[in-house]
Amino acid sequence: MAMPLVLRSVKEMRAYSRSAKQSGSRIGFVPTMGALHRGHLSLVEAAMKECETVVVSIYVNPTQFGRGEDFDRYPRNLEGDLNLLADYRVGAVFAPLDSEMYPEGFDTWVQVGRIAQPWEGTCRPGHFRGVATVVLKLFAIVEPDLAYFGEKDYQQLLVVRQMVRDLNLPVEIRACPTVREPDGLAMSSRNQYLSPDERRDALVLFQSQQLAQELVDRGEVDAAKITQAMREHILRVPYAKIDYVALVEPETLQEVTTVTRPVRAILAVRLGGTRLIDNMEIKPKTS
Ligand code: AMP
Repeated sequence: MAMPLVLRSVKEMRAYSRSAKQSGSRIGFVPTMGALHRGHLSLVEAAMKECETVVVSIYVNPTQFGRGEDFDRYPRNLEGDLNLLADYRVGAVFAPLDSEMYPEGFDTWVQVGRIAQPWEGTCRPGHFRGVATVVLKLFAIVEPDLAYFGEKDYQQLLVVRQMVRDLNLPVEIRACPTVREPDGLAMSSRNQYLSPDERRDALVLFQSQQLAQELVDRGEVDAAKITQAMREHILRVPYAKIDYVALVEPETLQEVTTVTRPVRAILAVRLGGTRLIDNMEIKPKTS
């Protein structure tokens, strides 16, 4: 298929969307930071199934990175991303410059409440403020009917849903399942940072969540015992640093004490200089 149209300015992007809508298209939007992989492409496929026009944004949003985080070294490869997208029915790629998104004098922020506080919110202060702000801006520019987010970033998905509800944004949010490597590692642009040894050791994230499900299947309901076993498994990698490992209510992200309903395992682990997150639904024993 042909390379997608690349739009750099807010004005062009809005004109494109408005004209697509005028021709009766529904616009499906996939916001990304680029360095695209099969996880991103699964969102594009989901959008293609439901929407006549698909828009992908590629923008490494500076305001969601904290000081000392990986903004400067975050992988950027627009050319490679466009080549990947050429195989999909993508109408336009919105790839704005920072000066277009945050012009001189920019001074308005979106602060989502409780759901953005724990876990990633605590480990990465200001992160969700940056995410919510850029997602609202992108929604205002692209004016999508539907927007697609990955469960890979589970808390982000809940933060975006909360914002859409609270601010009456005219967009439907769709959640897409996490795409994994054949061995179980959740796909992430940040996996590129891993050395071969770290890539091998990174499997403990997936394995610890499988272990949680196995323990529950064997009748364990005590969340503290399950998370302890998960921690011990992760710390078999001696240089691994756990930011958090928890079993939480899927809607509120509050920690549970027992697994008697479906819960979400969530975790963030640092391996060398790379911080990885993952999550998985853990279902209680049926019988
Ligand atoms: P990012 O480029 O990391 O900001 O991610 C852009 C979108 O792709 C977000 O909605 C992510 O949740 C989603 N995404 C990232 N990795 C995966 C994955 N492995 N499976 C499914 N969705 C993903």
